[in-house]
Amino acid sequence: MIADHLQTVHARIVAACRAAGRDPREVTLLAVSKTFGPDAVRAAHAAGQTAFGENYLQEAVDKMAALGDLPLAWHCIGPIQSNKTRLVAAHFDWAHTVDRLKVAQRLSEQRPAHLAPLQVCLQVNIDGGPTKSGVPPHEAMALAKEVAQLPRLALRGLMTLPEPAADFDAALAVHRRAKALFDALCAQGLALDTLSMGMTADLEAAIHAGSTMVRVGTAIFGGRVRAA
Ligand SMILES: *Cc1c(COP(=O)(O)O)cnc(C)c1O
Repeated sequence: MIADHLQTVHARIVAACRAAGRDPREVTLLAVSKTFGPDAVRAAHAAGQTAFGENYLQEAVDKMAALGDLPLAWHCIGPIQSNKTRLVAAHFDWAHTVDRLKVAQRLSEQRPAHLAPLQVCLQVNIDGGPTKSGVPPHEAMALAKEVAQLPRLALRGLMTLPEPAADFDAALAVHRRAKALFDALCAQGLALDTLSMGMTADLEAAIHAGSTMVRVGTAIFGGRVRAA
């Protein structure tokens, strides 16, 4: 079942790329496995999926321990409190939700020497919700320049998590703002290659706007019982 779902999601990605005149190889699928157990991840891996996104740190670390025999890449896509940075630095390959210099500095300091640099995206509050995580768009450039200097981080790009949009055009408009910001940062000389945006409901609009990594949970693993 998970294998069929993965195939359907890949077909959606390919169709969205065709419609947008993009090469499907430009878009990576991150399977969001939060709330699902190691068996679900194992099934997805057996179907060819290697990159997994997790929101809850302790759940993720337990899952990694149960799956240590598989060559998987783990992406932290949940909020990172500054007292939890050590877990992220020690266990994950990527962190998509860096939105403060303090958190970035701690991740860099705490990244174990035997591991490759932590791959990082800055989370941008692209639709401006006052209580949301994410750096305000007008502060993203300054933060990116500081994070790019940190020795044990590799700044890869931006991540967004906008409110659900009413339809394709509304989603597209928001994702285009993120793409414009991404392009502006690249134009300033930052070597970014990752725009992490689009989920089950809006991956087509995100790809149309320029997403290079879609984070998909429900369409692969089914509905979640626990809120997320
Ligand atoms: C849960 C989650 C996803 C996946 O959402 P679906 O709608 O289930 O595809 C993607 N990104 C983040 C940050 C999430 O928390």
